[in-house]
Amino acid sequence: MKFCQNSKCHTYKTKDRIKGTKGSKTYQTRRRSSFYYGNDNFCSMNCYNDWANEFADRAIDHFGRITVAKHLTKDNAWSKDYDWDYSGSGSTRTNYRFVNGITNERRPLTEEQYRDKSYTLNTGE
Ligand SMILES: [Zn+2]
Repeated sequence: MKFCQNSKCHTYKTKDRIKGTKGSKTYQTRRRSSFYYGNDNFCSMNCYNDWANEFADRAIDHFGRITVAKHLTKDNAWSKDYDWDYSGSGSTRTNYRFVNGITNERRPLTEEQYRDKSYTLNTGE
């Protein structure tokens, strides 16, 4: 279980946030096994936005603010894709591939390569 990372989560007064023993109940930060927002860190878009409004500038300055336009070229337009195969019971992923967003060239990819987030054909940013 983990907590929503918005420092103001507890200020949203919803029934599910009321916790504690009788006589000392308080609105508390949401705690779940997983969250839908902000890469599994926030319980709602409101909480995600609160955090972004408070910390986005500092986070961007820390990791590098974009100050000039980036360009999509054939050298950095590779992305990973796959199809769904419904022929068996249920569905499985199949035909893993790289697709170039500029040239539309396709290159086969193994499932392992697909899952490897550091594996890319892109040579530029
Ligand atoms: Zn929250």
